[in-house]
Amino acid sequence: MSRYSWLSERLLPWYREHRRELPWRRTTNPYPIWLSEVILQQTRVDQGLAYWQRFMEHYPSVTDLAAAKEDEVLKLWQGLGYYSRARNLLTAARQVVERHGGHFPADHNALLQLKGVGDYTAAAIASIAFGIPEPVVDGNVYRVLARLLLISTPIDSTAGKREFRERAAELLDAQAPGDHNQALMELGATVCTPRKPLCHQCPLADKCLARAHDAIDRLPVKVGKTKVRIRHFNYLHIEGPQGLVMERRGPGDIWEGLHQLPLVESTKALGSKGLLNSLRTFLPGAVPTARSERVVHVLSHQRIQAVFWRVSIALEPEFSSDRQWVPKDRIHSVAVPRLVERWLNGELPEKRV
Ligand code: SF4
Repeated sequence: MSRYSWLSERLLPWYREHRRELPWRRTTNPYPIWLSEVILQQTRVDQGLAYWQRFMEHYPSVTDLAAAKEDEVLKLWQGLGYYSRARNLLTAARQVVERHGGHFPADHNALLQLKGVGDYTAAAIASIAFGIPEPVVDGNVYRVLARLLLISTPIDSTAGKREFRERAAELLDAQAPGDHNQALMELGATVCTPRKPLCHQCPLADKCLARAHDAIDRLPVKVGKTKVRIRHFNYLHIEGPQGLVMERRGPGDIWEGLHQLPLVESTKALGSKGLLNSLRTFLPGAVPTARSERVVHVLSHQRIQAVFWRVSIALEPEFSSDRQWVPKDRIHSVAVPRLVERWLNGELPEKRV
């Protein structure tokens, strides 16, 4: 059994109960499915439905479309924009007739050879019409996967495209790839929306890492829009009979006014030796004794890579109005960023150094 069988067990029943009833979902004929995919790249479902119906009335089969005049096709396409797509539609229909005798090939690579058919469309036709286990990754799927699996690799980067495709392939239900792909797209279109997703209606809510880490609004990440700055935070957990040393964050940076553990920010990730060097000036005599795993915390413009270090101290740290001992029974009443809260709640595993 796949390690992601829980996904299908939740997603497929949800899809079968909640999906929007659309005519191209009632068939496994690749022609209407292909037509719907091409049209829906241009427009929303409510508007696209009328175009799809008009095309199906004029050209009930791929052979009818292949015999059409280009002007007619462009006229029917009018209002959708990107007219090269309408021309590609016609060329692809003619290729299906000339190369494949009027039958769409049941093969992902052969589908990719058709004019205007990219990875997304080929995977959609292959999985929905022919039950071939190819993952479909469209904008909706990027969003659902980024949130569900807490992936902060930008979706418009080469590395991101590769990573999302790999993860989508891992998650794919090979027994029902068509419904699986459509269910993920439908979830993204109707529940896991870009703004204000309806998490309380989501069948995956209790497995969603972005929800658990309060990162929904920050995912998915796009480089095109925002240049992401990577920062390395080393938090120092200094505990004594008086409680825990905490400091307030100053102005002009993220989390202004919130409290945190004393922070050493470095230009690269530090090991225990590197931290020890930094502590020589920051907190003389302090020695790291344990550390958390590196945690990635995603903000809209920044990616924080944080490690929490337990340190023992020879001297009291310097105190000011912004840095003080906080008694243990008061720690949870102090406002801290979610990242620090995870450490204070014991949610981050640690190991000795
Ligand atoms: S819980 Fe919310 S954010 Fe997570 S996948 Fe579901 S709808 Fe999207």
